[in-house]
Amino acid sequence: MVKVNGNYGKLPGSYLFAEIAKRTAEYTKANPDKKLIKLGIGDVTQPLCPAVIEAMHKAVDDMSDKKTFMGYGPYEGYAFLREAIVKHDYAPFGAPITADEIFISDGAKSDCGNIGDIFDIDNVVAVCDPVYPVYVDANAMSGRAGEWDGRRWTNIVYLPCNEANGFIPELPVRTPDIIYLCFPNNPTGAVATRGQLKLWVDYALRHDSVILYDAAYREYITEPDVPRSIYEIEGATECAIEFCSFSKTAGFTGTRCGYTTIPRELKRCGESLNEMWLRRQSTKFNGTAYVVQRGAEAVYSEQGIAQTRETINFYMNNAKVIRQGLKDAGLTVYGGVNAPYIWAKTPNGVPSWNFFDKLLHEANVVTTPGSGFGAEGEGFIRLTGFGDAATTEEAIERIRKVLQMRSLD
Ligand code: PLP
Repeated sequence: MVKVNGNYGKLPGSYLFAEIAKRTAEYTKANPDKKLIKLGIGDVTQPLCPAVIEAMHKAVDDMSDKKTFMGYGPYEGYAFLREAIVKHDYAPFGAPITADEIFISDGAKSDCGNIGDIFDIDNVVAVCDPVYPVYVDANAMSGRAGEWDGRRWTNIVYLPCNEANGFIPELPVRTPDIIYLCFPNNPTGAVATRGQLKLWVDYALRHDSVILYDAAYREYITEPDVPRSIYEIEGATECAIEFCSFSKTAGFTGTRCGYTTIPRELKRCGESLNEMWLRRQSTKFNGTAYVVQRGAEAVYSEQGIAQTRETINFYMNNAKVIRQGLKDAGLTVYGGVNAPYIWAKTPNGVPSWNFFDKLLHEANVVTTPGSGFGAEGEGFIRLTGFGDAATTEEAIERIRKVLQMRSLD
């Protein structure tokens, strides 16, 4: 008789965004005349830029001619894209990465979870709290998280990220083998300085741990001297794997393309993690579509760089409007400077879901409750700059009014 993977049964119910959708749908059903504005959205809303579209059209034409047709591609991705990544994402920042250390993927989400395939099931995993839920759930599915005790997984090392530590995790008491870090951070919008990352790199080297560094939001960094890649930190090529994505950088959420970097000198138990990952990918992954990789390559063209920058600036301007508007309304806010995410503290310690409901019912604005990202997220909500400019301004105005009325209560 077949047995199913029992770890799935341990996963806590209702996924965060499903619960948000449920509450939003219930409200809309009861109040069909109300116009909701969604600022909880983690998806981009602007179309692919013209340079990408043009390159993809051309790549489609390549597929129509026997001379230029492309079949199965290399498992690690086409050299033209891997070389463009090195030239634009690594070399200018002094990160010593070469094209044979890059693996093109269909996005960071799958790789962040699938990377677990090359690590033993007994490894102890550390994650920030609050956290992008994929790291935790993927490890729970493979049996690395222990038991769900109603609040947390018993075998995960949680690294609290809160106001007291500026949302940057401190080194833990229990030593993890695998450490997920994500900067710029989703959901807090925090970024780590070189010094803070160096502490983690040194720690991983000391303990033979591996850092899984999610840099999906690297292009949103606006302040000078904030590291865009963990490989800007000395020693990181011996202890870190990095995940990057074209999703938020260039609007590829529906088009799907990302990349994972595994330096050749990263070895554990005498094995090259680069070679293990290639082995894994060549068995379980058949590459990202040629047309999509040509589109991603165009992100690095002169026009592509200028056009994607314009879109990022547009989102970051929304983030600025949210950040400033909520501040003016008396809330304590974080993020929104080097990330499209604003992490706002609820007034008077109101629980996240209560504040979510209040904003949904009274301001008709949908946000994301911070508690959905982990226990330390309680008392916060997340808003994003991915909406339209006019509706973002309107949403903030509505929230401001609700909060003003509150002060008159
Ligand atoms: N990593 C983080 C921190 C994210 O927030 C997201 C998407 O929201 C991803 C990875 C997924 O990126 P992709 O669309 O490339 O799978």
